[in-house]
Amino acid sequence: MIDRDRLAELRRTEETRFVETHPCSAELAEQARGSLLAGVPMPWMTRWPGSFPVFFETANGARFTDVDGQDYVDLCLGDTGAMTGHALPQVADAVAERARTGITTMLPSSDAAWVGEELARRFGLPRWQMAMTATDANRFALRFARHLTGRPRIAVMDWCYHGTVDETLAVLDADGSVVPRPGALGPQVDVAVTTAVVPFNDLAALERRLAQGDVAALLMEPALTNIGIVLPDDGYLDAVREITRRHDVIWIIDETHTLCAGPGGCTRAWSLEPDMVVMGKPIGGGIPVAAYGLSAELADRISGPMLGHDIDVAGVGGTLTGNALAMAAVRATLSSALREEDFAVAVPLAERFTAGVAGVIERYDLPWHVQRLGCRAEYWFCPPPRNGADAAAAIDEDLDGFMHLWALNRGILLTPFHNMALFSPHHTEADVDLHTEVFGAAVAALVG
Ligand code: PMP
Repeated sequence: MIDRDRLAELRRTEETRFVETHPCSAELAEQARGSLLAGVPMPWMTRWPGSFPVFFETANGARFTDVDGQDYVDLCLGDTGAMTGHALPQVADAVAERARTGITTMLPSSDAAWVGEELARRFGLPRWQMAMTATDANRFALRFARHLTGRPRIAVMDWCYHGTVDETLAVLDADGSVVPRPGALGPQVDVAVTTAVVPFNDLAALERRLAQGDVAALLMEPALTNIGIVLPDDGYLDAVREITRRHDVIWIIDETHTLCAGPGGCTRAWSLEPDMVVMGKPIGGGIPVAAYGLSAELADRISGPMLGHDIDVAGVGGTLTGNALAMAAVRATLSSALREEDFAVAVPLAERFTAGVAGVIERYDLPWHVQRLGCRAEYWFCPPPRNGADAAAAIDEDLDGFMHLWALNRGILLTPFHNMALFSPHHTEADVDLHTEVFGAAVAALVG
């Protein structure tokens, strides 16, 4: 369908345009290579489509400006970290106030109870704890689960992503064995020892695996979002709840990305009943902070060990966790963003995006499709996948790279790794229509 020579030629043209229009980013990239591994503070920052990353100067609402003075519509929003929109004034004020009045003391601050009550109200789970990142929150949730059940393994979905949690960097190979995820560096122990992996949307596989009796917790996103969006089949999540309950397996839902479904994520939108919920990224408006909630029953069971003298060495939490700055940021964020009224603006924009992309796909009669969950949307170069392995097999890095670079050169930033667009209340219909036009022009250049 796609002429690969044409794709390569178009990509070269876009790369030339990128280099010519980003001289200051090129210079900073060159300088950074002298002192930073791979020239970036964090390895993912090399995964952008141009031959060097764009260095940003300022980001506000749904836009940012780079060091070359180019303006962009940001459809990546820090891969959800800035889902509220960048630089919320309420967060800036709260953080500035806390920076002047004390950031970290190991004592709870006056925002703590408000934050706990708001999280309980949104997600329907009564007891909460904080973490610095969603990775941390997942690690602590898994530790609690192993402690409470006395079972050694955790279960995850094939091709999931839950941060840099060792046990979760596992996939199934072609024979159905658990192996390290391609690219995972230096596992502590063989993941086959720590982890059971099941395909998403496969209830029989879940039933078979949990029946073995060695799994403490099933950690999953309610819809996969990290290998493109893969939605659950009708009734799938209710059946997951029933199976996990029957096998005494703690069901942990990671809402870090699926918070895009509404103020209480999919848990609230779809009336799910997990034992624990984890979330991070946007809840502090960009300040590193995450949270995890527990059902009343689990909270009762864990509160004994939590009050023990050795809790400081229990492997849960960290010195800066739950500090006053983080709590102030969460309070400011959740009281001014990610509310019903914010989703009421952002979700229709994602719907408009989906309709625009679907229109182009239809016009050119491509076997592609576009998927949406709340204010997040994603296009694929294949029919909708039902599980992570199908989704992974359909990834086309050359095509992804071209589409991203074409968009970047025309003032639109998409999320790297896949073709995701995230909407905040700060985006406009004109932003969406710009994307539809740019996407349509890319497709015309490729197959027109
Ligand atoms: N859970 C999910 C579902 C995620 O997508 C991610 C990161 N993309 C994480 C957890 C980890 O978040 P962090 O890198 O902030 O720890």
